[in-house]
Amino acid sequence: MLTDLTLSEAQAQLHAGAITAVALAQAHLERIRALEPDLHAYLTVTEDLALQAAEDADRRRANSDDSPLLGIPLAIKDVLMTRGVPTTAGSRILEGFVPPYTATAVQRLLDAGAVMLGKTNTDEFAMGSSTENSGYGPTRNPWDVTRVPGGSSGGSAAAVAARMALGALGTDTGGSVRQPASFCGVCALKPSYGRVSRYGLIAFASSLDQVGVFGRSAADLAVLLGAIAGHDPRDSTSMALPAPDYTAALTGDIRGLRVGVPREYFVEGMQPEVEEAVRAAIDQLAALGAEVRAISLPHTEYALPVYYLIAPSEASANLARFDGVRYGPRDAQGALWSTYKATRGRSFGPEVKRRIMLGTYALSAGYYDAYYLKAQKVRTLIKQDFDRAFAEVDVIAAPTTPTTAFRIGEKADDPLAMYLSDVFTLSASLAGIVGATVPCGFDGGGLPIGLQIIGPAFDEPTVLRAADAYQRATAWHTRRPPL
Ligand code: GLN
Repeated sequence: MLTDLTLSEAQAQLHAGAITAVALAQAHLERIRALEPDLHAYLTVTEDLALQAAEDADRRRANSDDSPLLGIPLAIKDVLMTRGVPTTAGSRILEGFVPPYTATAVQRLLDAGAVMLGKTNTDEFAMGSSTENSGYGPTRNPWDVTRVPGGSSGGSAAAVAARMALGALGTDTGGSVRQPASFCGVCALKPSYGRVSRYGLIAFASSLDQVGVFGRSAADLAVLLGAIAGHDPRDSTSMALPAPDYTAALTGDIRGLRVGVPREYFVEGMQPEVEEAVRAAIDQLAALGAEVRAISLPHTEYALPVYYLIAPSEASANLARFDGVRYGPRDAQGALWSTYKATRGRSFGPEVKRRIMLGTYALSAGYYDAYYLKAQKVRTLIKQDFDRAFAEVDVIAAPTTPTTAFRIGEKADDPLAMYLSDVFTLSASLAGIVGATVPCGFDGGGLPIGLQIIGPAFDEPTVLRAADAYQRATAWHTRRPPL
């Protein structure tokens, strides 16, 4: 089946003329039609645009254009702006909003010839770990539809796992590409802060937000990252560093690679099968010639409280612009103040309101020093833990999440339990460094487990090389959900 190809395989077949972009797009659109009623990975399917783009890709190829993503069907998280295509960030407050411009990361994919299949479901403004906070209903996990796909980029993860896209973009502020990829048995990479432009990404927490990529192999991640990485004059936080050739970094050789295993990432209360699978994956890296050693990241326990002060603080400021006047539906009440109150009161969901209140409190006069400023200082300590670790090791291997995918509804009323599903991903976001996840096993219920590989800022090549070497030796990433 065409939908079973990996991105890299599809590239080769398109290049060889064995398949057309139109056939590939049609196969994916058909699969989307068949599975969407069960999964709800997409908020918008752009069928006509996709077919047009695919025809265009076939025409370009006939004219000897060989752009890397020519004809590759991809899904885009609905927090990334797409000109002319509704973009909601999973929020009712942006219902019906059609952006006048396209996010740089998306534009770069389109310029490289990619075919956008649609916009994927997300927790509202990317706040959540299950997509249950979407204003448009939850996405379901392709491995077990009674379970969450993770979040906030749950739609993108589910779409790639269920063969409803060859790859996808998501965003990661505290784990939102890594955690859902782990829950859905696919691969994802959160680049270093500054590696990919945030222009056109609807801001949640600006010092943490980063566009990430999903695929069914590390090799696919390398292709997608290569297409979107690099400086953008429209985002002053994007680094003026040229993007390396990530695919060229995949040598298959990790002999001598120093892999650190942080003791703080194996904690009481985690699912024993997750620990077993991750330790077995680390043994596999050793068998491939890596030098594994124990390390410590002593401030790990503060990542959760630090993140839940900094991210809501930044969110409370970023979300002030959604007032019913400039974008989305307006609940007009005569006086402007009442209009703001009615619009925001009705259209924001409970988690978004919780974060706005938390953040506004942490930033308020008298509490700023005690909460926000203190959190920033501890963030530096967390970053210094990594600096020290990376003086000794090249990458860090750890679980991506403490458990496999939980049941829909299981944590929906318990914010803290929900927040805890990101304990292993938050630190890399706070430190602005690279974090990737690859499938490394399954639990007794047949749910996927993820191995997280963390690397120093801007060392995506080494992280991808380790992930790819692991996948050359194992087959976990080739398993498909029983749909
Ligand atoms: N789950 C975390 C949160 O709710 C991280 C979300 C994200 O990375 N966007 O904030």
